[in-house]
Amino acid sequence: MSESKKLFIKTYGCQMNVYDSERMAEALGGQGYVETQSADDADMILLNTCHIREKAAEKVYSELGRFKGLKAEKPDLKIGVAGCVAQAEGEEIMRRQPLVDLVVGPQSYHRLPEMEAKTRTGAKALDTDFPEEDKFEKLKNRPKAKRGPTAFLTVQEGCDKFCAFCVVPYTRGAEVSRPADRIIREAQDLVDRGVREITLLGQNVNAYHGAGPNGDITLASLIWELNKVDGLERIRFTTSHPNDMADDLIEAHGTCDKLMPYLHLPVQSGSDRILKRMNRSHTAESYLRLIERIRAARPDIVMSGDFIVGFPEETEEDFQATMDLVEQVKYGYAYSFKYSTRPGTPAAERAQVDPDAADDRLQRLQALITRHQREIQDSMVGRTVRVLFEKTGRLEGQMVGKSEYLHSVHVKARGIEVGDLREVRITDSGANSLAGELLSFGD
Ligand code: SAM
Ligand code: SF4
Repeated sequence: MSESKKLFIKTYGCQMNVYDSERMAEALGGQGYVETQSADDADMILLNTCHIREKAAEKVYSELGRFKGLKAEKPDLKIGVAGCVAQAEGEEIMRRQPLVDLVVGPQSYHRLPEMEAKTRTGAKALDTDFPEEDKFEKLKNRPKAKRGPTAFLTVQEGCDKFCAFCVVPYTRGAEVSRPADRIIREAQDLVDRGVREITLLGQNVNAYHGAGPNGDITLASLIWELNKVDGLERIRFTTSHPNDMADDLIEAHGTCDKLMPYLHLPVQSGSDRILKRMNRSHTAESYLRLIERIRAARPDIVMSGDFIVGFPEETEEDFQATMDLVEQVKYGYAYSFKYSTRPGTPAAERAQVDPDAADDRLQRLQALITRHQREIQDSMVGRTVRVLFEKTGRLEGQMVGKSEYLHSVHVKARGIEVGDLREVRITDSGANSLAGELLSFGD
């Protein structure tokens, strides 16, 4: 048997890239590649890139520059760029960095095996098309190896919303949903290999409308189908858009036992003027009413969100409206970013906010979010949660897992295995995680 080749993948950006990297590794597994954790002993290096904020492309070029020495030592080493920078920059990457052999956009990963074979002949391979064929179907050969208790599963890709700041509709293309039967098959396969929690992924996951047995089905219907999969214990989904939060999905949060009480629902700003300029087509008020309805369905749900501060033309008053909204919602988690100009998007042409003012706003927002985050985490002390254990901790005999609310929980006890789901009483709240004691011995 020929010796296997080694593949090193470096992943930047969102969870969808993490999922895509796994699938690329599987696709190249068919070409005899096994993954390595070090670029130094790789036969192929793939950078799976993100283009959501500025300087991403520059970071990729400087990372590529670092591989010059390696390539000189190992002329057979193949270097590829995948992901949204590959989609946005295309051929420019090979022009600026001749050591790159392969450039592949997110919709063409199923073509990687042919592309890799092409590079072995000494030719360069470039594919940034948006082909009609179903890349997921062609990528379906996940190896049957056992895996950890949690997994991502992409159900929807692309976006038609065109928020004024965002590159996703350009780099990931139009919204496409995968057929339900294929998702359920993939989920079953993951469960057979040890997975107990699946996070459904999509740039606008709640806009999911994949084909079901009798026409298109909603994300809530898909979740109900997955709820029937034996051995699957937990379902999550991300990222959702407020306008696609349908009634059946809100209701599922109250009635579907495997759907976890955590929801990532980005709002971006609390100012209606800015939301309009962002082309978000919701208001702060409609978002707050939506959260009321979600909390009525599932009172203990922990909310999470995304914010952009310093969006063009944002005034101190607009920013205060964001602070007010955060104060009302009280997020358990939130991701806040300073606006980053993306060439080609409408907001790039508008009057930019002074960078020092934007920095100052970001700090104030993050301080408020951190305070709420800590209050919500501290409120878990004394409560009983169910923890899915994912790995061993740093201390002797310690195991770490996640509660249904996505808090990290550390437990010191004998007899817990990775993949166990146990009841834990929370005894302490630290900087970024909780500690607790085991209440149940079986699951
Ligand atoms: N589809 C999701 C939504 O509409 O809320 C968000 C997906 S986007 C990939 C992830 C986050 O990146 C956004 O919610 C936004 O906060 C942030 N983001 C996108 N473009 C940005 C930009 N130009 N500058 C700063 N943050 C940005
Ligand atoms: Fe980007 Fe999300 Fe807006 Fe789509 S809905 S354009 S992915 S921020």
